[in-house]
Amino acid sequence: MGPLVHYELTLQWAQEAGLADVAEQIARADVLVDREFRATTSLKNLTMHFAPWSYFWVWRYRRQAVREDSAVALGRALHCAQDSVAHGVLGLAHLRFDAGLGRNPDDWRAAPERIRERIYERSMDLLHAFRKRG
Ligand SMILES: [Zn+2]
Repeated sequence: MGPLVHYELTLQWAQEAGLADVAEQIARADVLVDREFRATTSLKNLTMHFAPWSYFWVWRYRRQAVREDSAVALGRALHCAQDSVAHGVLGLAHLRFDAGLGRNPDDWRAAPERIRERIYERSMDLLHAFRKRG
């Protein structure tokens, strides 16, 4: 997923979840994961963008976000959660697309309604958990 989800929608959803004061920080950290942890630069980075490994990062960053009151960690958890749904298990959606089959898994507008709903729900779960911290 590109900046439409990782930045614009995340910013909107963070505001919707009552986190207007840190929404910008959260969205910025989310979109920056693709630059700071580029999937092609290391195996560790790759795991952040694809299920099932990315679920570990969702858990780790979510915990860090709540414990350390960190909007940056929350943004990273959101990125991993959003990619987990969009890219599918083992990045199969990407492999299919690269083979000339199926839609681009990073295209939000072309994604099926159920995928978009799941990304929204996962994102709101994380945002609400952060809102209730402390
Ligand atoms: Zn990514």
